[in-house]
Amino acid sequence: MLTNKRGYNLRFGRAIMAFALAASLSAVVGSTNPASAAPDVCELTEEELTVYDLPAGSSVIQCDAVGRVVTYDGTGVTVPSPGTAVSVDSITADGESHGFMMEVDTNGIVSYDLTEAESADSSVAGSDAADSLTPTTTTGDVTLEADNAEADASDSSEGAEVAEVDAAASPGACSDGTYATKGLKEYGTYNWYIGDGGLPAGMSHDDAIWVFYDAVAAIAESYNNCGYSDQVDMNYPNYMAKTSFEADINTSSQCTDRDGLSTWDGGNLKDDVYATTCTWSWPAPGVKNDLREADVRFNTHDFDFTNKVTSSCSNKVDVRSVGTHEAGHVFGLKDIYGSHGNLTMYGYSIECSTRARTLGKGDVLGLRSIY
Ligand SMILES: [Zn+2]
Repeated sequence: MLTNKRGYNLRFGRAIMAFALAASLSAVVGSTNPASAAPDVCELTEEELTVYDLPAGSSVIQCDAVGRVVTYDGTGVTVPSPGTAVSVDSITADGESHGFMMEVDTNGIVSYDLTEAESADSSVAGSDAADSLTPTTTTGDVTLEADNAEADASDSSEGAEVAEVDAAASPGACSDGTYATKGLKEYGTYNWYIGDGGLPAGMSHDDAIWVFYDAVAAIAESYNNCGYSDQVDMNYPNYMAKTSFEADINTSSQCTDRDGLSTWDGGNLKDDVYATTCTWSWPAPGVKNDLREADVRFNTHDFDFTNKVTSSCSNKVDVRSVGTHEAGHVFGLKDIYGSHGNLTMYGYSIECSTRARTLGKGDVLGLRSIY
């Protein structure tokens, strides 16, 4: 759903707006726009901006837009510095928020990927470039928040854990080959941290290491029950440490400025969002963007997570299912909507379901297309 709010008094000509709208709708990442299409003067209002206020082809430098939040479809990102792309993906209870990617090229020109994934796409093969980012742990964490406010209730599920059973309304996980990719890739090793605050399902830090590890590993190893071998050639993700840094995601499920550490934590997100992933990557001409950071936050403020889904489960969210889904975003998969409810990358979470813990056919094919 698009928001119509237009908070700008930009002196765009009619042609430029038409061009920008077309560019937005066609949603081409990295589309090159003639320099002449950029406005000579760009004055953004102080109000919240939508992607239409800072359309494809505009310049974050001319518009003085770096650090401003740009919203779309119920979510948003903080405009990054030139030479950076940022993506946001939220898994929601009601499907009101999705995700998008904003790319700012090295000249400061904006482009977007606003497509919603309904069907398979073709991916661009990436070359193997080194990923040598060293986290800048010496800098302050601008997003530091009070930690203990969002601690989830302890996980007290009793009874036997339920088995993974496909939902009847969608093709089975092993027969649904649908996937879509985000245009980014981890060329090196994903080094990830866990925040030192409250965690979903009331997990201890040690528990969370293994639970999140399981989720990340499911993606890295194409873990599935369909008989697909692991052909995903990806460096094994590396858990680093507990950190006082936070996932760079605010209470509106918008990506804030990145701090250099890929952090998984719990916190308060938009009230219909189970979890949000933000990625930051560097555009790499001709190949998929080079992932530099990916943060994951579970909404422990509005939802009750569990690590053990039992037959008596009610209104609980499986932390491993959501974690595996979010890990899919980290490594470049997009949400899938429509009748694909048995895939890990299905964009609406189903409470009390463990289906997303193991990948479906489309999830495996999507990863194989990237790695
Ligand atoms: Zn998602």
